[in-house]
Amino acid sequence: MFEDIEDILVDTDTIARRVETLAGEVGRDLAPLQAREEPIVIVPILTGSLIFVADLVRHLPQKMRIDVTSVTSYPGKSTESIGASLVGDLPEDLEGRHVLIVDDIFDTGRTIAMLREVIETRKPLSIRSCVLLRKPDRVVVDQQPDYVGFDIPDRFVVGYGLDYDGHYRNLPYIGTLSASAIEDHGEDAS
Ligand code: IMP
Ligand code: MG
Repeated sequence: MFEDIEDILVDTDTIARRVETLAGEVGRDLAPLQAREEPIVIVPILTGSLIFVADLVRHLPQKMRIDVTSVTSYPGKSTESIGASLVGDLPEDLEGRHVLIVDDIFDTGRTIAMLREVIETRKPLSIRSCVLLRKPDRVVVDQQPDYVGFDIPDRFVVGYGLDYDGHYRNLPYIGTLSASAIEDHGEDAS
């Protein structure tokens, strides 16, 4: 597997330190909401945010629900987004709650923009979003995430939850894929 990784863009320790700092920022904003006894719901987008959200919420002492949702954007072996659509239903009962969407990466921004729009119809008290990574050169939507771990260059990355064709999510760092790993996967398909 490791020969499939070209460069490590963000190493394990750097991720851990940044996630803790980011959780500090999120927690400072959630604390007054909890003080007013307004309910908080974390909505992680599966599957990419799985590892990030697990680390993030363990630094957040607030009382909260975690209700996952699922969005498709990169089908199979593609490295180009074709837009986003919701898979299945949204979590129930978002009305009157503060919602924090968590995703692995803000690429074009369409996934989070779409989810925000759908959640808006449920009349939440507020909607915020938190992403581990953002590719500033790729963003096509107006609204930026409220919390961003790292801005990265326009490269296709894997690890720490991010996949290529379902693989590499378990790597403890963020890395770029070698061209041959992308081609090999392509050959598997034929
Ligand atoms: P967006 O809708 O273009 O912002 O795309 C967001 C989704 O695309 C993320 O939730 C990821 O699942 C996926 N994605 C975007 N860039 C990458 C990448 O570099 N590696 C792996 N997945 C990515
Ligand atoms: Mg995703």
